[in-house]
Amino acid sequence: MTLLPVLTMTGCASTGSKVASDSAAVEPQTVPPPVFEADSAYAYLKRQVDFGPRVPNTEAHRLTGEWLAAELARHGATVNEQKATLSAFDGTQLMATNIMGRFNPAADDRVLLLAHWDCRPWADEDPDSKRHSEAVDGANDGASGVAVLLELARLIKESGTDRGIDILFLDAEDWGATHDDDSWALGAQYFMAHLPDGGNYRPSAAILLDMVGGKNATFCREYFSQKSAPNIADAIWATARAAGYEEFFPNRLGGAVTDDHVRLIEGGIPAIDIIDYRPGEGFNPTWHTTADNLDNIDTATLKAVGQTLTDYLLAH
Ligand SMILES: [Zn+2]
Repeated sequence: MTLLPVLTMTGCASTGSKVASDSAAVEPQTVPPPVFEADSAYAYLKRQVDFGPRVPNTEAHRLTGEWLAAELARHGATVNEQKATLSAFDGTQLMATNIMGRFNPAADDRVLLLAHWDCRPWADEDPDSKRHSEAVDGANDGASGVAVLLELARLIKESGTDRGIDILFLDAEDWGATHDDDSWALGAQYFMAHLPDGGNYRPSAAILLDMVGGKNATFCREYFSQKSAPNIADAIWATARAAGYEEFFPNRLGGAVTDDHVRLIEGGIPAIDIIDYRPGEGFNPTWHTTADNLDNIDTATLKAVGQTLTDYLLAH
């Protein structure tokens, strides 16, 4: 993903730009929600990194895709794969696969949880320009979101919930060019042009996770999310606060980020992006660098995001 510098100026505003919702009501709980196991999420994260950078058209990418589909199926999801050859901005033909796991597929009301599973082929934000041609490990940028969702898949199965929940792993998000918005999120663009259910797929809420495992992560409300679905953002930030994770989820605006969720919003799906962006600083400092590896992962961050989503989805 990339940042839109102009809008960021508006989006960041000042530190005083609190978003009204501190007092948003959280449903009273009668049954405690399941415990999100951060160690389990970390194992899912490490497994992806161990495959090697999941850059499209590589063996590591192909093997990871097979593994992701198998994991969703193992957790009881009905798995659909979209395979497509997508043209990157530089002319490369990317063999891409969007992988979707559906829980309680007959339920009408559906929540969509998503993350991208591919890795950026170039560490072009690395402080050492000699390393710009190396692929990133994507421990945070890619693997962390997928890992949280795989652990959630495990909990969805275990909980026996009857909610309609879809988990979508999008491909080809990160083969973009800095000043070409359309070159990012190719998998999301394909998904929106080929929606499930014969094109009639309309989840009532979509939640994107991106860079949700880094040290000292900060999840502010992202600009497009806030515009598209303030009610979903209200609920997520209130849930995080109620669970004691306000430090990770400060109730304020962050930047405007070009990411998969923007494509969903354009297609009429209310969507938010939970992404590590620090106003005044930028993304997690390892973003698109060779330092985006296991050393930068903190299970406390995985826990904060994962438990918040668990509470949001599975508390009743
Ligand atoms: Zn990225």
